[in-house]
Amino acid sequence: MAGVEITGVSTVYPNGVRAVDALDLRVVDGELFALLGPSGCGKTTLLRTIAGLEVPAAGTVTIGSRDVTRLPPGRRGVAMVFQDYALFPHMTVAENIAYPLRVRRAPKARQREAASEVADGLSLSGLLDRRPGQLSGGQQQRAALGRAVAAGADVLLLDEPLSNLDARLRLEARTFLKRLQHDLALTTVFVTHDQAEALALADRIAVMESGRIRQLGTPREVFQRPADTFVANFIGSTPMNLVEATARDGHVECAGARLPGPPGLVDGTPLVVGVRPEYLAPADDGITGVVSTVENLGVSSLVTLDCPDGTPISLTVPEQHEPALGRTLTVNAAPGRLLFYDAEDGGLLDG
Ligand code: ADP
Ligand code: MG
Repeated sequence: MAGVEITGVSTVYPNGVRAVDALDLRVVDGELFALLGPSGCGKTTLLRTIAGLEVPAAGTVTIGSRDVTRLPPGRRGVAMVFQDYALFPHMTVAENIAYPLRVRRAPKARQREAASEVADGLSLSGLLDRRPGQLSGGQQQRAALGRAVAAGADVLLLDEPLSNLDARLRLEARTFLKRLQHDLALTTVFVTHDQAEALALADRIAVMESGRIRQLGTPREVFQRPADTFVANFIGSTPMNLVEATARDGHVECAGARLPGPPGLVDGTPLVVGVRPEYLAPADDGITGVVSTVENLGVSSLVTLDCPDGTPISLTVPEQHEPALGRTLTVNAAPGRLLFYDAEDGGLLDG
């Protein structure tokens, strides 16, 4: 068992792209950790740098108590599952799973035993003699996980483990992966561009952009208190309301309304008010607007209000309280659910 520590790591490709930029990160022993961010932000590069498939231009990678920065992948105690699973097509499932043991020249009987043990835990027992081409996407994914687990690594690295599965199977595989990781208590770092997946699975999440970490926290922390407007925009299945506002007398003027504001701001300071649609509800006073669209989300509905100054504000309401189009509605959020961001750098303000 081992944690992972990244200190001041920069990974630069020969063409000059700085895919990981002076990054610090600590993954705790036994944790299920997500690297989350838009395509091209450096997630795969960071994972490959932990695995030893890329050598950083600066910084150190520590696994357990060992500095592995200069060690080849095979000596780091990590196992990586690639986005396309990279199973050996000419080998059976059993041979694929046992491959790490074969490389170490374990006895044949031990290889077979390990493969059937691991396959048991992954519901692959009936498929041990099949080749990858005869498996569904979900089964291939489990076989690839099996090979990584059989390697007996201290750290499991998964690059977009669920993205090749169709939507339904992805939910099943997600639950499965969470249970497997919990049972094995294996330090796991997984990459995803899907915020819902990161929120559902991870113990902690690093939200990345341009080779850097914008926020590191538990799913609740990044959902409830995004550290900046980039994270606020990126996290959540319905986009957060981010509304231009102006400070006035300890309040903020926004969307034609006057709301309690953060303390200590000079009158006239521009800022951005952030509030999740899930945290807004009809109220006696607050932001008033006319219902312009209603979208069905299943048990709830996403309602958009057009405010007098033209600002759109969205909120979710229980299906049975869905308002009629054209109705005027006043909404507000509980204290603490309104967040205030610096209008210039997008950073979260206290208060
Ligand atoms: P992500 O996994 O978050 O989509 P990547 O780590 O794959 O991001 O890529 C980060 C950046 O590095 C991108 O700008 C990408 O174009 C660049 N990049 C990735 N791989 C290479 C490579 N082999 N050579 C040059 N640039 C690369
Ligand atoms: Mg990637």
